[in-house]
Amino acid sequence: MTAKQEQIFGRNLRSLFFIKAFLFFTLTIFSTLFLSFAAKAAVVKSMRFWQSPESTRVVLDLSSSVDHKIEILTNPHRIVIDIPESSVTVNLDELEIKSNLIKKVRKSKPLRVGDLRLVLDLNKAATPKSFSLKPYQDYGDRLVIDLFDQQKEVVKQEPRIAPEKNLKRDIVIAIDAGHGGEDPGALGPSGTREKDLVLKLSKQLADVINKEKGMKAILTRKGDYYLRHRKRTDIAREHRADLFVSVHADGFKSPKARGASVWILNLRGAKSEIARWMKLQEEKSELLGGVDSKITLSDYDSSVRSVLLDLQMENSIAESSQIAKHVHKKMGKVAPKMHKPHVEENNLLVLKNPDIPSILVESGFISNPQEEKLLKSKKYRLKLANAVKDGIKNYFKSNAPDGTYYAARYRQNIYRVRRGDNLTKVAHRFDVSIQQIKMANNLKSNRVRIGQKLIIPVAN
Ligand SMILES: [Zn+2]
Repeated sequence: MTAKQEQIFGRNLRSLFFIKAFLFFTLTIFSTLFLSFAAKAAVVKSMRFWQSPESTRVVLDLSSSVDHKIEILTNPHRIVIDIPESSVTVNLDELEIKSNLIKKVRKSKPLRVGDLRLVLDLNKAATPKSFSLKPYQDYGDRLVIDLFDQQKEVVKQEPRIAPEKNLKRDIVIAIDAGHGGEDPGALGPSGTREKDLVLKLSKQLADVINKEKGMKAILTRKGDYYLRHRKRTDIAREHRADLFVSVHADGFKSPKARGASVWILNLRGAKSEIARWMKLQEEKSELLGGVDSKITLSDYDSSVRSVLLDLQMENSIAESSQIAKHVHKKMGKVAPKMHKPHVEENNLLVLKNPDIPSILVESGFISNPQEEKLLKSKKYRLKLANAVKDGIKNYFKSNAPDGTYYAARYRQNIYRVRRGDNLTKVAHRFDVSIQQIKMANNLKSNRVRIGQKLIIPVAN
């Protein structure tokens, strides 16, 4: 917001106050006399529904902003929305309700004449959360009601236990398609919406990652619905992700802006996040250790905690920076232009993860007609997805987390031969060939002795 805008905003607020005071005054005097003449404050023009795996978002399009009240009723489960002095023009019987939770929307008798009472009949118990949205782009004033499925609110944590002995775990990549649902993201000149494009690209990226042995992709968003930033990273955490990749496409007022880019969190953003984490330390203490470590925050007193969090955030950013460099390099071979010749930094909320290295990929500018056209091409997106995957793969080849297939395959280990070992067993354990071990150690025969140190080679 500029200073000028702030000024206007302040003036509007002041005049709004006087208008409100005036209205209140006149309404209290006249409402008893002329109740039936009271003007309708707002009209509900349409209703939209967005279904996500554990919640339903209901959006009411309004002619102006409104106050509202929400009440939960049981037997049967329903949600009552009261909006003073309003009416509804949308035909409630013809609504296309995309929701696991909502059976029906209907009008009901309000407590006060002239008010609007809407009832959402539910299939099961749900917790509502509501807020107003100001006009934005093609949208006017909106009232948003999120209904959370109570049965699905209990978060399933994947067990922290190590996988069975010879079973080497996959490196988990969380792919986060930006925006969704009510939030379309950037818009292209031919009408492409960022939210649709990045979901397609994210799914392609997940596909190419899942084809790699030793890597597994999960998607934070699988359909057209909005997820809060924190929710996106929470999903990554639930799956014990080793890396979080947020996928976006840029938009700019000038159609000339072009080029793909890769972003990481800057240190200033990191510091403010540490302050926030300190507050949440009690409930989220177990996160300090990330995927593999067993350290928990609560094991330490608060001064040590802040140092540890600092270190972990720095570590997370250093790792993110390395991964981003690999991805940037590979994308540069596919994209017609990179926005900058290097990885960029910003204070992006979705990247604030002390426990998971995180990068953000801007696949190009959809506000640029040529890049919009390119990004609409499935073939081009596949090239881009492969480039991102190759960048990630290159990083993890030389920085494999403990206990992963990648560690076994690509990390150079020194192994001390134990009783009962032979070259076949050792080769099998590290997933390399006997020949590779023999070459790395200059062995003439297959014989090894107990206590002998063997270099286990890095494959490729
Ligand atoms: Zn975006």
